[in-house]
Amino acid sequence: MLSRRTFLRRTSAALLAAPFLPSAFPFHRTDDAFRSLRRNVGIFQQRGGTIGWLANDDALVVIDTQFPESAQQCWTGLHDRTGRDIDLLINTHHHGDHTGGNATMQPHAARHVAQQNVPTLQRQAAERSDDGPPQAYADDLFDTEWSDDLGDETVRLRHYGPAHTGGDAVIHFERADVVHMGDLVFNRMPCFIDLPGGASTAGWIETLEQVHAAYTDETIFIHGHGNPEFGVTGSRADLLVMRDFLTGLNEYVAEGRKAGTPIDELAAVERLPGFPDHHLAAWADGIPNAIRAVYREQTSAE
Ligand SMILES: [Zn+2]
Repeated sequence: MLSRRTFLRRTSAALLAAPFLPSAFPFHRTDDAFRSLRRNVGIFQQRGGTIGWLANDDALVVIDTQFPESAQQCWTGLHDRTGRDIDLLINTHHHGDHTGGNATMQPHAARHVAQQNVPTLQRQAAERSDDGPPQAYADDLFDTEWSDDLGDETVRLRHYGPAHTGGDAVIHFERADVVHMGDLVFNRMPCFIDLPGGASTAGWIETLEQVHAAYTDETIFIHGHGNPEFGVTGSRADLLVMRDFLTGLNEYVAEGRKAGTPIDELAAVERLPGFPDHHLAAWADGIPNAIRAVYREQTSAE
């Protein structure tokens, strides 16, 4: 019998690896997959990027869709809770662990919103892999800002420029004061740097600083992924931890290149020096892959 902590640690590691190492391992039992945060806003965690939701008698909003099976669980739970169809479906960005359940959710949704670069990036990624689920694409697109009132809540989306991908949206439930960061925060763990998907670590650092400045210490943040030791929700302080990790990656690679260290040697580390928390045993190549991506980014920029 596993202790709860061990269970969470093992299953969370499986979840976190899911976008990169497909796993059938369920993350949470259905009955504890939902967690309320504030004012009818909460999260759903099963497999893939954290789903955010607003669920009350007047509005049902869903942010991201994980994979077909977990999307079905999430939809069923939210529909049972509210008796509503989805008023607004949002994708934070195009990655498969955030859009893989789109085809499951979209038939129940009145509107499906994302940043305008998302459908193209999603199509390109789907063409590169041949074993993904059926794709469905957002069709209500915005450039830098989108907002609407739903029931007693105002939902505002902002795109700050290339960061984790070329089409990231930061979503704010204004009255609840809850922000969904998508994958702009991998909370105290390695991160996925997707150069073909439009990633820019310099833009990512800038975005984290802008979002940090836009909110307060009272704002609750939802992160796309998190080290089980730290979780997938937190405060804006987490954004600066993420910023410092990205800065640390860039400095590590720049210093290594200056010293003439070969990339294979630079990437042969389990942890980035100075960042002992940013580690997951189940994603052993997370840090090496991030180092290689930053190396490619730096050398292609010259
Ligand atoms: Zn992502």
